[in-house]
Parts: sequence; C-alpha cells; structure tokens
Amino acid sequence: MFNAILIEKNEKNLSVTNKQIKESQLPEGDVTVDIAYSTLNYKDALAITGKGPVVRSYPMIPGIDFAGTVSQSDNDLFKAGDHVLLNGWGVGEAHWGGLSQKARVNADWLIKLPENFNSFQAMVIGTAGYTAMLCVQALVDHGISPESGEILVTGAAGGVGSVAVSILAAKGFTVIASTGRTEETEYLRQLGASEIIERSALSEAGKPLQKERWAGVVDTVGSHTLANACASTRYGGMVTACGLAQGMDFPATVAPFILRGVTLSGIDSVYCQRKKREKAWEALTRDLDTAHLELISQEVSLSEVIDISARMLDGKVRGRIVVDVN
Ligand code: NDP
Repeated sequence: MFNAILIEKNEKNLSVTNKQIKESQLPEGDVTVDIAYSTLNYKDALAITGKGPVVRSYPMIPGIDFAGTVSQSDNDLFKAGDHVLLNGWGVGEAHWGGLSQKARVNADWLIKLPENFNSFQAMVIGTAGYTAMLCVQALVDHGISPESGEILVTGAAGGVGSVAVSILAAKGFTVIASTGRTEETEYLRQLGASEIIERSALSEAGKPLQKERWAGVVDTVGSHTLANACASTRYGGMVTACGLAQGMDFPATVAPFILRGVTLSGIDSVYCQRKKREKAWEALTRDLDTAHLELISQEVSLSEVIDISARMLDGKVRGRIVVDVN
C-alpha cells in the first residue's frame, strides 16, 4: 500500500482525499518509481480544486511532475536504483501522477536526474522552472542577448516567474519583474530583478501599439497582460507565452507583429520533445543559481496540498511548493 492524493468524481461531486492505494492498482507502464518529491504547479491546483478542465479521467492521482528512484523496470533505458524525474506527458491529467509515494509510467517519459541536482532541488525547479528555461532558451535562440535590452517577466513572484527572473539575471539580462504583490519586492530583487513594476500597469486593456520597451518577455499570465506586453515589445523582439493566470483570452491586435516584426512564441512543456527537455534541464544545471533554490521554495507534506491549491489559484503562493510525499 502507498499514500496518494486521489481525485474522484461521481455525477454531482468532486472529492479529493489523501488515500491508501494498492500497488496493484497502479496504471500500466514499464517503469515503477518510488517518489521522493513532487510539487504543486498551477495546473495541479486547477485539477485539485476542480476549477479547470485538467483531469481527463477519474479516479486520478494529480501531480504533473515528480523525482524519485526506479524500483522496477522492464525497459533497457532504466534500471532499479536510477534517479529519475518526470515533467508532463499528461501525467496527473490522463495518467496517475506524482502527488503519490509511487508511480508507474512509460520509460520514454522519464529523464535521468541531472547530476548536479538532488531530487529535492530538481523539484524546486519542477515543471514551472523547466518551463521558465524553455522560455529563456526561446529568447536566446531568437538572438536576444543582455545587450538587446530589458526583459519583462510577468507573474514574477509565482513559480515560473521566480525561476525565470533568477535564470535571466544569472545570464546577465536586465530583468523587469511585474507583480501584483509589491510586498515581494525584496524577494524579487534578491532573485536578480533590476526593477519591479505593478501588475496593474499591464493588466488592463491598452493601446494596440505602445512605447517600445522590452527586448523580450516571459509571460505567465496571458489575457490583457500578454496583449500589452506584445504592444510594448521593441522592434524584432520576442514574447514567450506560457501561462494563463490572468486569463486564457488574448485581446490583442496584429499591429506589433506586422509593424514591429515582434514574434510571439508559444511554450509548451508537456509534450516538448525529449531532446529539447534534456537540453533545458542541462542548461538549468548551468544557469540557475542554486543558492536561490532555498529562497524560492517552500516544502509541504502530502496532507497540506489540498489547502494550498486554493491559495495558489488566488495568487497567494510565492515561488515553488515542493511536496515531500513520504
Ligand atoms: P503560480 O500560481 O506559482 O504563479 C502565477 C502567478 O501569476 C502568481 O503568483 C501571480 O504573480 C500571477 N497572477 C495570479 N493571478 C493573476 C491575475 N489575475 N492577473 C495577473 N497575474 C496574476 O503558477 P505557475 O508559476 O506554476 O504557473 C504560471 C502559469 O504558467 C500558469 O497559468 C500555468 O498553468 C502555466 N504553466 C504553463 C506551462 C506550459 O507548459 N506552458 C508549464 C507550467 C506552467 P504575482 O503575484 O507576482 O503577480
């Protein structure tokens, strides 16, 4: 038997409980993992509260990422004792996930734990941090360098935002952090932000073209914020869009794209190719100041996850929530 968060649904209600589950109930897969740490991502909070259509079949163990040790493998890619991590692939949505002491998954979904990280550190980064790195790599691949100008990070005190600020600052970029929580100014400065701007400066409807400011953008919130970010990006710049904390809508015009050659780059971490995700994790071992991991993270137990989910959707959680499942 092992412990896990289980989301069950009947005709009327969603129930989310901390349950004992038999190993024989684990879904199909060729690798079984003893999980050390999982995390709480925005998507997990949507699944647990039922506020977003994340879960595709019930009952479901949520948790889109985990790190742990292989206990049994029928695939040559991994053997018992290997340290592994997983992000995405529909785990925690369509296949039982990481908010659990055990998981059984397809070997192709796992990657080896990068040598410089232990399981805890890998989960401080988690899917949010790996997504932040995918955004930064898209900007860099577009030719944006620290000399190009300022980089805007929205939802900066959240999980993706915090890691993005840290990585960009470590790479020498001038980072402008947008947040709705000015009480986190000192935190964002410690991560390397040069300037903090109020979320409200970007979150209301604005003009199609605004004063050119950003060489690049990491946007985690969508909606008007994304539209305003595009409208104030400099000629030839890039906006990476990875999130929807403000909304899934995109009330924008084509003006920034056709008049300023701005590129809007969509970032998906879930089905990102294996090579690209390994490259992102390798870059995280180089470009993330591990001293920031403690500042960014808060460790909780499996039993605390349900309460924290609601706080996360209210934008009240700072940085990354790491879940010790044991
Ligand atoms: P968090 O909850 O940790 O961070 C979201 C942040 O957005 C909040 O901390 C807050 O930052 C800001 N925010 C919250 N509500 C609003 C609002 N109404 N208007 C404007 N800003 C708001 O979530 P994560 O960092 O884990 O995820 C961020 C987004 O990225 C989510 O939408 C998530 O689904 C998405 N995501 C996408 C991935 C992909 O593959 N594309 C992978 C991982 C995440 P502040 O207080 O600083 O303003």
